[in-house]
Amino acid sequence: MSGPLLPGATLGVMGGGQLGRMFVHAAQALGYSTAVLDADADSPAGRVSHHHVRTGYLDETGLRDLAQAAQAITTEFENVPAQALRTLAAQRPVHPSADAVAVAQDRTQEKAHFTRCGVPVAPHAVIETPEQLAAVRADLLPGILKTARLGYDGKGQARVDSPQALAAAWDRMQRVPCVLEKLLPLAFECSVVVARGVDGAMVNLPVQRNLHRDGILAVTEVGAGVVPDDVAQRAVEATRAVAQGIGYVGVLCVEFFVLHDGALVVNEMAPRPHNSGHWSIDGADVSQFELQVRTLAGLPLVQPRQHSAAVMLNLLGDLWFTHGSEREPAWADVLALPGAHLHLYGKAEARPGRKMGHLTCTAAHLADARATARRACEVLGLEGF
Ligand code: ATP
Ligand code: MG
Repeated sequence: MSGPLLPGATLGVMGGGQLGRMFVHAAQALGYSTAVLDADADSPAGRVSHHHVRTGYLDETGLRDLAQAAQAITTEFENVPAQALRTLAAQRPVHPSADAVAVAQDRTQEKAHFTRCGVPVAPHAVIETPEQLAAVRADLLPGILKTARLGYDGKGQARVDSPQALAAAWDRMQRVPCVLEKLLPLAFECSVVVARGVDGAMVNLPVQRNLHRDGILAVTEVGAGVVPDDVAQRAVEATRAVAQGIGYVGVLCVEFFVLHDGALVVNEMAPRPHNSGHWSIDGADVSQFELQVRTLAGLPLVQPRQHSAAVMLNLLGDLWFTHGSEREPAWADVLALPGAHLHLYGKAEARPGRKMGHLTCTAAHLADARATARRACEVLGLEGF
């Protein structure tokens, strides 16, 4: 690229989900036009974009139309086939690269990359053959069997506590390549969002503390003291090493487990903005989506400044149902809370477990942001934290 792509240009994104929608919003705020490729005519990002190419990810006509409309292209969905990104990269700058996305798409490759970068992973075994299944060490149980590819939000995972349960779970997963991870006793979980430019410059958001329920992110807290300083420092260093080690360009999130002795174990990475970074729209002066726009356009990266403590609550489709009947959550009551910022993704149909939106509660102090978020939980009928 000769220089940055300046506002007025068109930025493209593969995938029309909520992450694409928030990317589109950030790009448009900076004066860019946008193009989204997603087969769904009613996708969250497609609905708000200037251009919407309605084809599958591997459709040649669709990819050509996207490359014609957009001067640079990113992705919002890590399971976009790497081949589609390669096809686009022959015509336009694509960030992150197909190679980086391909590593993040495969837990086995991803773990090998973390190890190369000197970042510890959970004890695990790769299971691709019956021989590997039979050779699993007893000390990996109880564990979690995870499909190597295409998992998200806890899908494609099974907890297993015996060799028999492991074999049965692998059968249920149709014997696709898997990773068995030892179940670790977690003190808590955290994540770091980093942005890396074409010139290698890196900036990051502060460390985020995450609470998962049923394998899905439920709550993220960001503010003084949520994570001990030394853990935070190691998490940021590890995240930067992971981005640097793969020559990454774009926004990357690395998720960590923190054990009771303070040891840090990397869980996985997402080659895109992450649910745990959504708070940055309302709690920082540069959001993770603006960082994605800046890295894609080749604009300068500045270190984001967190101006408010923040607590983010995910709003899953379950909220739309009580005792089997459908209802609209009490949005007006939530919006009456000072510091509550509501984001809904415009999805027509609520389903249990489906990410429909999020609510970020901000305040000068974390205790106040927490108090607002707890109040919001009561108002909405969400489980507290
Ligand atoms: P997502 O893409 O939404 O982050 P995922 O489907 O990729 O989810 P993981 O991140 O692998 O799933 O796991 C989801 C959650 O399950 C983790 O955040 C953690 O709470 C729990 N978990 C996963 N692996 C382990 C482990 N080895 N030990 C203890 N808990 C685990
Ligand atoms: Mg995860």
